Amino acid sequence: MDKNIQNINNLAKNCVQNEVPHCVAACPLHVDIKALTKAVAGGDFTAGRQLIEKKVPFAGILCRICEAPCTSRCSRNELDSAVQVRELERACMDFGSKDSAVAEIPPKKWRVAVVGGGLSGLCVTATLLKRGYSVTIFEASSVLGGRRREDVLLKDVWDEELVAVAGAQVIYNTVVGNDVTIEQLLEEFGAAVSAGFGGSRAHRRRRLREQAIYQFRRRAAGYAAAS
Ligand code: SF4
Repeated sequence: MDKNIQNINNLAKNCVQNEVPHCVAACPLHVDIKALTKAVAGGDFTAGRQLIEKKVPFAGILCRICEAPCTSRCSRNELDSAVQVRELERACMDFGSKDSAVAEIPPKKWRVAVVGGGLSGLCVTATLLKRGYSVTIFEASSVLGGRRREDVLLKDVWDEELVAVAGAQVIYNTVVGNDVTIEQLLEEFGAAVSAGFGGSRAHRRRRLREQAIYQFRRRAAGYAAAS
């Protein structure tokens, strides 16, 4: 057998048979990279796209801005160079079809306030909407997307991806902790989530998040005791 093929086979054995592949362990989303590369190798970009979208909303944006920690952990680095998973993901998002099947989830009784309409807040919103919650986003600026929205290369992708949060109510130009307090939000909503930690508002957001989690736990304990 060709020595290179032998090396690749040995690497593959270590990579996928003994434990979770190192690239998957390094990926914050734990994308099933093995299934993804198999789908792309078979020319099935739609299967690849659905695999990524199952893991994360706003996949079109994320696979363009991810710093790809999976690449440095790829076992192929020992042989030649890493599999460029992020590029494979982009190809899937560009050429694959979106899964149009919509699961019928009964609406939940809780309304949730999401603090911040940056990428993190939008991911939380899309996930909550999918699970049947009613969501209101409180955004300090007049646009959704945060600083990532300024990237002109992402403009078309944003237009397509924002459909995922079309069911949410958005209250613009409202700073939580200034125009409205977290206590007021918790009076009106079943829970409040502050998902963003970036930029100059990091400290304030972290503090708000801690308060929100504390209040949410107190309220959840109240519900549990009452039921
Ligand atoms: S590019 Fe990013 S999201 Fe994609 S598999 Fe690698 S680490 Fe995960």
